[in-house]
Amino acid sequence: MPSSDGLILPLSAAQCEIWFAEQRLNTANRVYKLGEYIEIYGPVDPVLFETTLRRVVREVDSLHVLFAESGEGPQQVVEAFSGWLMPVVDVSEEPDPRTAALAWMTADVARPMDLTRGPLFSYALIKLRSDRFLWYQGYHHIVMDMFGFSLIARRVADIYTALAHGLACNENVFASLRQLLDSDSSYRASDRFTQDRAYWVERFADRPELVRLVDRPSGTPASFVHRTAASALSGTDKLREAARRTGVRWSRIMIAATAVYVHRLTSARDVVLGFPVTGRQDSVLRRVPGMVSNVLPLRLSVHPHMSSSELIARTEEEVRQVLVHQRYRGEDLRRDLSLSDNIGTSFTPLINIMSFDYDLRFAGYRAAARNLSVGLIGDLSIIVCDRRDGSSLQIGWQSHPEVCGTDDLAAHQQRFLNLLEAVVADPDQPVGSIDLLSAQERHQLLVDYTTTTPIPTACLPELFQTQVAATPEAIAVICGDTTLTYAQLNTQANHLAHTLITHGVGPEQIVALALPRSVELIVAILAVLKTGAAYLPIDPDYPPARLEFMLHDAPPTLLLSSTQTIGRIPPDTTTPQLILDSPDTIHALRKYPDTNPTTRPLPQHPAYLIYTSGSTGTPKGVLIAHQNVVRLFGATQHLFDFNADDVWTLFHSYAFDFSVWEIWGALLHGGRLIVVPYEVSRSPRQLLHLLANEGVTVLNQTPSAFYQLMQADQDNPAVGQSLALRIVVFGGEALEPAHLSDWYQRHSAQTPTLVNMYGITETTVHVTYAALDPDHAVTGAPNVIGTSIPDLQLYVLDAGLGLVPVGVAGELYVAGAGLARGYVGRPGLTAERFVACPFGGSGERMYRTGDLVRWNPDGVLVFVGRVDDQVKIRGFRIEPGEIEAVLAGHPGVAQAAVIAREDRPGDKRLVA
Ligand code: AMP
Ligand code: MG
Repeated sequence: MPSSDGLILPLSAAQCEIWFAEQRLNTANRVYKLGEYIEIYGPVDPVLFETTLRRVVREVDSLHVLFAESGEGPQQVVEAFSGWLMPVVDVSEEPDPRTAALAWMTADVARPMDLTRGPLFSYALIKLRSDRFLWYQGYHHIVMDMFGFSLIARRVADIYTALAHGLACNENVFASLRQLLDSDSSYRASDRFTQDRAYWVERFADRPELVRLVDRPSGTPASFVHRTAASALSGTDKLREAARRTGVRWSRIMIAATAVYVHRLTSARDVVLGFPVTGRQDSVLRRVPGMVSNVLPLRLSVHPHMSSSELIARTEEEVRQVLVHQRYRGEDLRRDLSLSDNIGTSFTPLINIMSFDYDLRFAGYRAAARNLSVGLIGDLSIIVCDRRDGSSLQIGWQSHPEVCGTDDLAAHQQRFLNLLEAVVADPDQPVGSIDLLSAQERHQLLVDYTTTTPIPTACLPELFQTQVAATPEAIAVICGDTTLTYAQLNTQANHLAHTLITHGVGPEQIVALALPRSVELIVAILAVLKTGAAYLPIDPDYPPARLEFMLHDAPPTLLLSSTQTIGRIPPDTTTPQLILDSPDTIHALRKYPDTNPTTRPLPQHPAYLIYTSGSTGTPKGVLIAHQNVVRLFGATQHLFDFNADDVWTLFHSYAFDFSVWEIWGALLHGGRLIVVPYEVSRSPRQLLHLLANEGVTVLNQTPSAFYQLMQADQDNPAVGQSLALRIVVFGGEALEPAHLSDWYQRHSAQTPTLVNMYGITETTVHVTYAALDPDHAVTGAPNVIGTSIPDLQLYVLDAGLGLVPVGVAGELYVAGAGLARGYVGRPGLTAERFVACPFGGSGERMYRTGDLVRWNPDGVLVFVGRVDDQVKIRGFRIEPGEIEAVLAGHPGVAQAAVIAREDRPGDKRLVA
């Protein structure tokens, strides 16, 4: 009988952490279960084996404790405890004995254990065939760690062998639980503890951002996804060989490779891994089967130009420090650093290297150990076992299924092994240039996910005029009481175009438009384009300084205004002006013919110049050619089937390029364009009525504007039900798909197709297309932006412009026919954002979006956020006149501002 029977003991610090975590989990859970099996290559006598186990259980205090809450906190009571069984599971008659055995053991590992009742261990002897047995051992982590497994395994092998040979076995070799607890409490009262703590707090004094390979799980999983590299991997033996050759430990290479992996998948240069340690620095602790292990953070700085060998050397040094201070608990450090995390460790992914002695014989027969589960670990772990028995290293992977399912885990595993091979093969290669992708993955990204459909060239007036000839009497544009047919719109535009030409306007020139939302605005845009010039929208509501800047920067040949807007133009501007509704102009216009001008732009001539400011810096003018717009419609037509029955709104400011889509979506297809009056655009209720009254079929909205419209729809259900909408296109900012669930519910009978389109001014309005459905509109669903418009190519790249694998976030680059020429008068900035495309032909450029996205395995893009988004504010650009309030001292940023976009009613965002 164990000496300590009946004793009431406190919990060690390590046990307390598990106890309290279990209380928080508040369910009979299975995540603190550990399991392993040992395959014995010979016959086993079940009776002797059970005798052996019973003896070992008596020797190990931790195996017969039960836990209880007392007035002073949790306690463990050491009890004489014999009510347990060792099942002998005979699967030898099964068609596939090994699979059956694994299923049995996996089920047992997943079985919850009650800390107050016990037993907190579980053994079985599984018979595969007469000369092949598996010994399974499973424990609750509160009583055992993986080092403890190896102590017990050795003891069982020794006793069984002695009994089998009829020999006496030596006395209990284990130290007692009480000794473990004494060691624990004396450490915690020691100077050593204080020093360790000081070391850790100092090492993390700057509170590095903890990057993860996968998202943070929302809760504790019911079980894990677990994968073990099935056979001896060529890479792992090469690893040992390389270690011998270079005189470093293989584990350091493994750790460095893990850091490179995290660096390459996240672009992080400050990598913090979780690093489990045994915490058994003294000889007593090395003799106690129990729970002592600890997870500490291992911090490495990695940059793309360093070589693997350089990083391995630094790893060696860092690991040495961690091991010196390994008794200080990771959970204590987590509290010191105020990191909140109830789910496993804060420090992930974990690189768990277990090099424990398993060179065992059971009555002379060889044996091999295999891990089944290492218990709760957070989100993702790499588990490497060196059994010290001459066999290959085993690399296992374990993940939280919510954030990394079986397929994802398999992809990580394969990719990591490729990287490990590359590190081992060429340790002098810069870590940034290691190729992470297999040939198959590369093909998928560059061929399967990429499209190249050339669209015939044309210019906008030419296509419009074809439409005029086809449907002259159809209504083209309506604003309030004013209506123009296609023929009338064309005639008016022709008058003005001829007038502009006499003012010297022509191709490669710019004409500024400062006009209210009106039919005249559409006439003016058409007229400018007919001359071959490009229009520059100057929204009269912009602040004077902004208007002045644009007029100076562009600079336009001519400025078209109206009596309504003239007062807002900076008085000292030197740009010649034409006031469209002045009696002089009206009179002059009549003198000019109503025929189409003979001058005609070429497809590559600029059509408009839109200023966009980005999140920082001065505004920059983006020059977009006719063909950029023409191909946008050519490439998307099969997705929408726009036609002459469609009724569109011009909802957005013509200074926002969503308006380009609205105007030409109507006019190139014979549809009708409803110019939404300014007051109506600001009132969701009025807009809803307009949509219903005009029979609008195609609506374009920023998500925030649509949420307000949804509210109006909810408040006016009768109007909402009478909508004729066919398509709603979202763009301009990140959608929160879950917000749409309400819409889908109320319009379940007949909903228009809701489409998310991600786009950028620099690449001509839209880049991607995703038709949504109610499945997208659930909480936690990813923000799907879809696939590329057929004549654009998308690349998701890391900081070194390398392709990142599917499922991994990287920066989106866009190449193809939508790209602008660049920024007017800003060659340096143009070169910075429009960079050479390493995947295209020579001279091919790609635009660097600054947006983070990732590929879903089904070839669909998910929007993640902004690359430079330190305060997690998504997809914004400050536009003129937007700044409503400036907040100083917003956490994490020097300054932040609440912005409200004039062109996106009600769209207020916080901007750093
Ligand atoms: P702009 O060129 O001013 O229209 O702004 C382009 C930026 O708006 C992109 O870089 C994104 O950050 C954001 N954006 C546009 N459309 C979407 C979308 N559908 N989902 C998420 N972000 C978007
Ligand atoms: Mg845009």
